[in-house]
Amino acid sequence: MNTNQLLSESVEKLLAWYPAHARDLPWRQDQEPYHVWLSEIMLQQTRVEAVKGYYQRFLQALPDIAALADAPEEQLLKLWEGLGYYNRVRNLQKAARQIMTEHSGVFPGEYAKIRKLSGIGPYTAGAIASICFEQPTPAVDGNVLRVMSRILNDHSCVDLPKVKQRFTEQLTTVYPAGRCGMLTQALMELGATVCVPNGAPRCDACPVRELCIAHEQQTVEQLPVRAEKKKRRIEHRTVFVFLCGDA
Ligand code: SF4
Repeated sequence: MNTNQLLSESVEKLLAWYPAHARDLPWRQDQEPYHVWLSEIMLQQTRVEAVKGYYQRFLQALPDIAALADAPEEQLLKLWEGLGYYNRVRNLQKAARQIMTEHSGVFPGEYAKIRKLSGIGPYTAGAIASICFEQPTPAVDGNVLRVMSRILNDHSCVDLPKVKQRFTEQLTTVYPAGRCGMLTQALMELGATVCVPNGAPRCDACPVRELCIAHEQQTVEQLPVRAEKKKRRIEHRTVFVFLCGDA
């Protein structure tokens, strides 16, 4: 079986598996671009469980793109308080203002235009374009790189941009018309709940087990291949805390 056939068959298995196994998450209730976008930005560097409450509070306070564009900075930072990486919310507002001025308040539906919005990289643009606008634009993050390298038993280093590019292109050719959004979410779900990063993947529960070459060849533990991390530098410092009464 060649790579294309292998991926096409895997896609069919994934699409059949996803509806019964998808977690019920607040941002999966609809395909509204503002909702998907907000959740993807919040989920960068933050766990799903931690994001749920923030996501709901944010939308209650700022229910649409126009409200986000107009929100005072103080309110934005308050809504984001505790999530960290505050540039994410500043960029959200910048992008909301871009949408108001450059797209008449309507979220653009093409990948290239989405990519031009502040704070939106290839992964987030791919996720929004496929989930909300049914475009064949894979959203390739660490989860998808791991799943791809295992299904294909590919021992290339996934930290290399050319490897990410190749996986993206291979996936693009098998994105199924009319089910692009579902495939993006199914791949995310498989990487988050079955073909997991830490510890052994749950191959027994995996819908693509029969096709996965790493599973067949027992190379799962070796994949994905990552670049060697820089050694941590340990610095010794002395810290003083000055107390004056309660201050
Ligand atoms: S069979 Fe195992 S290694 Fe292969 S994709 Fe499924 S969970 Fe990952």
